[in-house]
Amino acid sequence: MQKLEQTWDLASLFEGGSKSKALKESMQEIEASLDTCQKSIDSLGDQPNAAWKKTIIAMQALDANLSEVCNFAECLEAQDTADSLATQLTGILDGLRARNQSLGVQLETRFLQADDAAWESLLSDSELAPIAFSLSDQRDLAGRKMDPEKEMLTGELAKDGYHAWGRLYDKLAGSLRVDFQENGSSETLSMGQLHNKMESVHAGIRRSAFEKLEEAWSSVADLSAMALNNQAGFRLTTYKKRNWDSVLYEPLRMNRMSRETLEAMWGVVADKSAELVPYIEAKASLLGQSKMTWYDKSAPVSSDEKSYSYEEAAQYIMEQFGKFSQPLADFARQAFDKRWIEVEDRQGKGAGGFCTDFPDSQETRIFMTFGGTFGGVSTLAHELGHAHHTWILRKKPFWATEYPMTLAETASTFCETLITDSALKSASNDEEKLNLLDKKLDEAATMMMNLRSRFLFETSFFAERESGPLTVDRLNELMKNAQVTAYAGALDDHAYHPLFWASKLHFYITSYPFYNFPYVFGFLFSNGIYDRAIQEGPSFSKKYVALLEDTGSMTCEDLAKKHLGVDLIKPDFWEASVERALQHVDPFVKLARARTTV
Ligand SMILES: [Zn+2]
Repeated sequence: MQKLEQTWDLASLFEGGSKSKALKESMQEIEASLDTCQKSIDSLGDQPNAAWKKTIIAMQALDANLSEVCNFAECLEAQDTADSLATQLTGILDGLRARNQSLGVQLETRFLQADDAAWESLLSDSELAPIAFSLSDQRDLAGRKMDPEKEMLTGELAKDGYHAWGRLYDKLAGSLRVDFQENGSSETLSMGQLHNKMESVHAGIRRSAFEKLEEAWSSVADLSAMALNNQAGFRLTTYKKRNWDSVLYEPLRMNRMSRETLEAMWGVVADKSAELVPYIEAKASLLGQSKMTWYDKSAPVSSDEKSYSYEEAAQYIMEQFGKFSQPLADFARQAFDKRWIEVEDRQGKGAGGFCTDFPDSQETRIFMTFGGTFGGVSTLAHELGHAHHTWILRKKPFWATEYPMTLAETASTFCETLITDSALKSASNDEEKLNLLDKKLDEAATMMMNLRSRFLFETSFFAERESGPLTVDRLNELMKNAQVTAYAGALDDHAYHPLFWASKLHFYITSYPFYNFPYVFGFLFSNGIYDRAIQEGPSFSKKYVALLEDTGSMTCEDLAKKHLGVDLIKPDFWEASVERALQHVDPFVKLARARTTV
């Protein structure tokens, strides 16, 4: 295969990076559209008519334009963290986004005024019908809130109250430092760097990194508890005023799923997660421990790993994608050829990986750092899955492309599984196989145990928060109890992570409450789809695309019923999906035993 460029092409979107003239012009156009939309909303009549339709279409276009420039700014910041002009742009764009959000609230309020019959007839318009789901959802949600003036005020206050607690936590976490000793020398590390140490192949380094982590977080636990208690208090008061009876109402609604589905999913996970315990025990003995600890559970089981060049990774991905569907492989080739992917390993780049979309250009960009490991190959496949999902939806109106977090990981996890499963099948020796099985099972344990512990913690935390703020000790206690339950007692009693509620950023993301169960849903939903793909063979690829096409305009339950013929509120689908994740336990345990007895 010819040499591939490892940097992306952003110039085809906006020429000139953070100094781009075209970008500036787009931002000016957006400002003008914000003014025009404000005027249109102000002059709307009581009942739907042609002006309503025009305003809706204009607001949708504005949303897409804003995504295009905001996502571009995100790419600029990621490719060069020292690009101060890009940071400045993000600040300006935040202001435009806030104005757009306020327009959204005003439009929703108008939707509420419409008579039901007039509303239905508006939705039957040929241009609006494809986004009817999104419009009805906006209208229905507005009807379940306080009256508009109170909502606007709450939104304003949330900026300096609710969301400010989240920002305070971010600042706290970002400025926390520890002195870390390794090989006789000492260095000052951020919490992120400390986390990387917990993935070391050396047990001693993992343990001391964890001890440092607990020590650092316990020094700011009272402040973290304050941030957590206060943002929870804000949320509970707001929900009460809106007459929302459960703290799960908002996250379920955002994720377009029902409480019954959530309960069915967790029910199966709770029943089956103990079946992961033999894996955890076998891994502990591979690592030379009598019982597993929090800091060893994701440790590598082997230090020698096959390495891949970027071209080999690309070739491998396209080959495996092609076995499932040629259009999927062609899409990946297009992303490589058109330089939609940034993988170069260099200083000054942002951490992590993402895939972002450009709705006006109908393009996507993938950002990551490729280090030549198999983990890098599967991350690349994962991000290409996201990109392919966006590609499938590219011709739809923008408001029919916004899928919830529960469905966001469907295509990505699916594509990742295509890669990890084929690697497992073709593994040339036991050591490689053991490594790959461990990665699969570690992911399953993260989903079924770690994320479940977060959900259990949040549920019990909110129940007690109703009667007042919780102390650090009580939060620690709730967290440990949740971990013991979720891990089915598989970890050493002294080696849980009671301060996890402080160290995990996800508990503080105010814009996505309960940032945990959607991951588990996505993982298991995708597993279930993969199971179907195996059973039905290549003909399934058409169904797969049809399912993705509907992800922005249906509830999770309707999507599953229409495209898979399954009922998500029943346990059957979840059971099959969990079984697929658990099938690797026995082979892992066998290989681990063989290695420990050599
Ligand atoms: Zn993802």
